[in-house]
Amino acid sequence: MEITITKTTNPKKKPDKNNLVFGTVFTDHMFIMDYEEKRGWYNPRIVPYGPLQLEPACMVFHYAQETFEGLKAYKTKEGKIQLFRIQDNMKRLNQSNERLCIPKIDVDLAVEAIKTLVKVDQDWIPKMEGTSLYIRPFVIGTDNKIGVRPSSTYKFMVILSPVGSYYKEGIRPTKIYVEDKYVRAVPGGVGYAKTGGNYAASLKAQKEAKEKGYSEVLWLDGQQRKYVEEVGTSNAFFIVDGVAYTSPLQGSILAGITRNTTITLLKEMGIQVREERFTVDQLFQWHEEGKLEEAFATGTAAVISPIGQLGWKDKVAIINNFEIGKISQKIYDSITGIQNGTLEDKYHWITQ
Ligand code: PMP
Repeated sequence: MEITITKTTNPKKKPDKNNLVFGTVFTDHMFIMDYEEKRGWYNPRIVPYGPLQLEPACMVFHYAQETFEGLKAYKTKEGKIQLFRIQDNMKRLNQSNERLCIPKIDVDLAVEAIKTLVKVDQDWIPKMEGTSLYIRPFVIGTDNKIGVRPSSTYKFMVILSPVGSYYKEGIRPTKIYVEDKYVRAVPGGVGYAKTGGNYAASLKAQKEAKEKGYSEVLWLDGQQRKYVEEVGTSNAFFIVDGVAYTSPLQGSILAGITRNTTITLLKEMGIQVREERFTVDQLFQWHEEGKLEEAFATGTAAVISPIGQLGWKDKVAIINNFEIGKISQKIYDSITGIQNGTLEDKYHWITQ
């Protein structure tokens, strides 16, 4: 399918590259493709970024039949555009689509759409260290009907946003609150899907954690509130006596691309990785025994975010003196080096 391109006649002023706040500025163009049952996906096009016209009855507003992705493009010193693990993100989009009864999208077409859009808006890719172009693909159900059932029409869209680092602390350690009141996901639910409802359901916990002086929550399992799952919109790793622990993919957490990347790089460093369940009790016990050496969260937005403090009920654990650990720093440097083209791409994670 050919992607048509309509360029804007009214380009926007680019933002100050030294002061990019995550997700607040969008580029000049966006990608849209429509779906109808009889035609399948059709009319892939790049058009000027701007508002959509949707009826108030549009299904996504009522029943949240929606999926999305998040990935990044970088520019090398030589000016080449690099997309990180784009095929994996598009495969995960289809896993989310399958769970939400949304028709699958051809991975090659989605990759082509994003490559073409990023090329059109390539002057928006910031070049300074730690900056990138954040890519947000998403799908919405668009039938104008009230009544709970899968939509028969959809829009797949991609928008782009130049970004600096995600947390205002940069790669400095953060304070994370262990959430024991609210839960994010349950077995059989939609925890593994990247769908808006998961994030709407997480807002209250995040808000209350912020009020307590923490930047994010560490989610526990939804049944027993015992087992460690993930941190806000990131996966979590704990280095205990030289061994890396992270919770397994059993349907309730998102299969993070950065999680998978980190596991590969930890193994390459000779660090044993255990993808198995462990309780928050165990975690605090490891800390009391002096075995919890480092903790960090992994995700596209922040890449690696060291955890300097964990709060749980009336307990507080300070990890690695609230300093960036050696392993956290090494993984951060390796991933960002591959992304920005200064390190070799041994695992073929980059698409140019
Ligand atoms: N968990 C959740 C709930 C997330 O939203 C994200 C961000 N996509 C992650 C983990 C990390 O995934 P990734 O490394 O693919 O960005």
